[in-house]
Amino acid sequence: MLTRKKFPLHADLENVLVTEQAIRRRVKRLGADIAAAYGDSEITVIAIINGAILFTADLLREIPNPIRLDCIRIASYRNDTKSRSQPQLLQSLSLDIGGRHVLLIDDILDTAKTLSLVAKMIGKLNPASLRTCVLLDKRGRREVEFEADFVGFQIPDKFVVGYGLDFAERYRNLPCIGVLKSTLQNPPEWA
Ligand code: 5GP
Ligand code: MG
Repeated sequence: MLTRKKFPLHADLENVLVTEQAIRRRVKRLGADIAAAYGDSEITVIAIINGAILFTADLLREIPNPIRLDCIRIASYRNDTKSRSQPQLLQSLSLDIGGRHVLLIDDILDTAKTLSLVAKMIGKLNPASLRTCVLLDKRGRREVEFEADFVGFQIPDKFVVGYGLDFAERYRNLPCIGVLKSTLQNPPEWA
């Protein structure tokens, strides 16, 4: 169980949105859904790091298919004003994906600028198929039309941390997902 004593970072949360136990249960189910969708096929997984690292590590162990894993690094800078730059590719793929069944994994689908950009880039490399999976979905925040094929949890429009999601590179190791206290969201930039 997550206690403040064992995990002091927990005290920085306003509230917990998804518990460690709920994540574990949902990730198992998602793994089964993904395995059913791909049948016996090999899957080329592309994880968007750093955010998707923890989710991907747990999810892949619930998928019995043969899997190849690659990572891509994207910076999506944002701030509390409405101006947002386009996501930027910082580290590209090293595996070939032409003719492969690709599953793109990210931590959270928000405006959808990031996933739609990466999906477009991957689409140009002629995969046999392309599906997307996100742990969290803030559907109310879309700026680009995009839906993921597999979604862990729908969440409200709140800034969340934990289980891979950071604030200024911290809190990724929290085992649950929670809303960061607003008094701690300073400076307001987050990526
Ligand atoms: P999008 O391009 O869909 O707006 O944003 C996706 C990226 O923004 C995610 O990969 C994540 O890095 C970041 N992001 C969006 N919402 C949140 C949030 O509530 N918490 C954190 N830590 N990152 C977020
Ligand atoms: Mg991210």
